[in-house]
Amino acid sequence: MSWTCHGSSNSGMVAALKRAGLVRSPAVEAAMLAVDRGLFVPQGQMSAGRDAPQPLGCGATISAPHMHAVCLELLAGQLRPGARVLDVGSGSGYLALVFAAMVAPPSGSSSGSGSSTSGSTSGGRVVGVEHIGELVGGSVAAAGRVGGWARRLMEDDCLRLLQGDGFAGYPDWAPFDAIHVGAAAPAVPPALVSQLAAGGRLVVPVGPEGGPQALVVVDKDAEGHVSSRREMGVMYVPLTTEHAQRSRAGSGAVWRGPLPPALAEEGEAEEAQEQQGQGQEGRSSRREPELSGSGGGR
Ligand code: SAH
Repeated sequence: MSWTCHGSSNSGMVAALKRAGLVRSPAVEAAMLAVDRGLFVPQGQMSAGRDAPQPLGCGATISAPHMHAVCLELLAGQLRPGARVLDVGSGSGYLALVFAAMVAPPSGSSSGSGSSTSGSTSGGRVVGVEHIGELVGGSVAAAGRVGGWARRLMEDDCLRLLQGDGFAGYPDWAPFDAIHVGAAAPAVPPALVSQLAAGGRLVVPVGPEGGPQALVVVDKDAEGHVSSRREMGVMYVPLTTEHAQRSRAGSGAVWRGPLPPALAEEGEAEEAQEQQGQGQEGRSSRREPELSGSGGGR
């Protein structure tokens, strides 16, 4: 079970994430408000504002809103208008669209707008690479529903949602200022590090399926030196082969660490206690989000 940061609407969800201290940057907040997560959650699923992963089919899930917020904030320094972004394992396409709202906002906007019909003049580009063809099709359709701004980005070839193997990255548009990986790799994929721009950042969960995983932040400095650090314990579905993924059940991604105070105040204290007990094994006292496959993906 995830700790929860629910909202009955997209704006309610973003407000809850903000109260919890997970959304801090005005640019991240504006972009999350500009892209309605509900458009990317299959009909018939539980509320899009619910802070839990939700199945997309084909063994994939749209990650829980709190993990999207964590990754957006980790990359916020790179997600400036004009930046190039790679989203590996783009799944629903939601996060790629939020990235686009930050790096390729509509003309005359600094934050993006789902309702604008104007294109972007920033030069920013986002590519999502997803290996399941059905999910790519769904993500393109959902992106089209975000609004004229997003459709123009695709028409202008500033936003690509493509089928491909995420381990290989996307050399055609490299180097990237920001790279996000939405599934756990066995190790930091070398191709992704090589495709980072100077000053770029890669956020990637690393570790075995169902085992201890860490959200790893890889930075490349202006001289091209690479450093990395472990941000937090997580549990994601694996970055894998299409065949292996289709052979396994879907799972989800949730944070199982202690609740931020704002959430505990909202009547989640009992769940927080339960999850503190589950989430701290062998980990530091730092607030420790942990993505947990609900169902474990097996
Ligand atoms: N971040 C997305 C999806 C998260 S689930 C969202 O929130 O909607 C992880 C995704 O990674 C799944 O869609 C899965 O199909 C994809 N994936 C797993 N291995 C992959 C690989 N080798 N190449 C590309 N995509 C991959």
